[in-house]
This record gives sequence, C-alpha cells and structure tokens, in this order.
Amino acid sequence: MEFLEGGKSVKRILRGAGERALDIVFPPRSLITGKVASQDSVEAELWSHINFLDEPCCEACGFPFDYDLGRGVLCGRCEIKRPTYDRARSAFKYDNDSRRLVLSFKHGGRQEGLSVFAQHMKRAGRSLFEGCDALLPVPLHPSRLRARRYNQSLILARALSKQTGIAVAPDILQRVKATSSQGGKSYSGRKRNVSGAFAVRASAKNRVKGKAFILIDDVYTTGSTLEACAKTLKRAGAARVDTITLARVANPQSVPT
Ligand SMILES: [Zn+2]
Repeated sequence: MEFLEGGKSVKRILRGAGERALDIVFPPRSLITGKVASQDSVEAELWSHINFLDEPCCEACGFPFDYDLGRGVLCGRCEIKRPTYDRARSAFKYDNDSRRLVLSFKHGGRQEGLSVFAQHMKRAGRSLFEGCDALLPVPLHPSRLRARRYNQSLILARALSKQTGIAVAPDILQRVKATSSQGGKSYSGRKRNVSGAFAVRASAKNRVKGKAFILIDDVYTTGSTLEACAKTLKRAGAARVDTITLARVANPQSVPT
C-alpha cells in the first residue's frame, strides 16, 4: 500500500517536472505578439482595456444593464420572446480590444492565457454551475475541424472544467450541416444558416433526458448558434440549457436584422 502511494506521488512529481520542462521549451508567449510575454507586453496593455461583464444583466440573455433593476429582470428583446436557452453569460464585451485577444486564440492557435480566460468565464457564469451535469462545447463540422485542427470551444470547455470540476461531454452534440461563416450575415441570415445544423448523437440520446447542460462557445454575437444548439438539446429532453461564452457583442442590435 505504502509502495503504491509512494508510486503515485513519484508520478505526480514527474508530471510537475514535465510541465516545468515544457515551460522552458515553450516559454509562455503573448497571445497577441507571439513574443515571450513580459510584464509590459502589448497583451498586458490590452487586458487593461478589457470591458468585463457582470451583473446587473438580463436574467435570460445576459445583456448588460447600466443599473441594477433587481433579480430576474429581462431585457426588452427577451421580454417579447425568451430565448430557448435558459441563461447566457459572458466574461467580457466583444469590442476592438477584446477582438484581438479572441481572434488570436481562435485563429492563431495560441492557448497561453487560457486559464485566465477560464477564470473569467467561471466568474461570469458562477450562478449557473449548481446542478449542472456537463459542459458541452459547440461542435465544429468535421470539415471545419480538419481545416482548423482544433475546436476552440472544446479547449475553453476543458479549461473551465479544470476550474469548476464539471465534466466536459464533447460527444453529445454534433454538427451535421457544414454551415458557412456567420460573419457578415444579418440576424435572420445567421438564424437560417444554423437552422438544423446540430443533432444529438444517437449513442448519446439516453444521456440528455432530464439533464442540465452549459454550452460553451467563444463569442456570442446574436445568440443564433447557441439558440440552435439549445433547441436541439431541449427537443431531446434536456431539462436546462445555459450558456457561457468568452465574449459577447454587447449590443446585438448593431448586427443588421
Ligand atoms: Zn435579454
């Protein structure tokens, strides 16, 4: 028994040493410049301009309010029609400063700073974790995954899982339609584009009924992708579907309807 326990701790020590060795081979680099990060890096400057999101916000879509109107208050849009997902929260506003951070992560493949992203997602989504069964990354279509080589939502979900202890279930939802990019599309165009794009895998159907999930994605623009995922999950019997994104366009009305 003692030997086994000793063996385990040796393993832990070796793993720790391996991580330090990786730091030496691949020193933490800036998400923006690709240079070895330093205190006065462009990135540190950029982080100082990030507009973090928190309460008060719309109870459903997370639209930030200027004033605290009390708990459970909805924005005008959700008052007219509540989204299919239950609640959406985001770590920070998607604006010119945060865009560079997010795009560098999304397209540059840079993953340093990931635990900082996850810390802010944890803070923003703190009211959603109780009773949650699994974190579900928004899936990419296999053709997009081949081109990009990784799914940024899965990377974020794994980082958040490490900090919350909630499991990631990447094999429940699948993207069955190769959609074109949502960029530059109108509100209705975005909605049409992702309509019927997602499905629950046949092998996962019995893991959805009555369960509570949090969808994870990088950017909330109009919410149409998250809405399409939530519809798919609720049709399959999910009891609750919340969402956490890294960033959100604070005023989706700026996207043409
Ligand atoms: Zn709202």
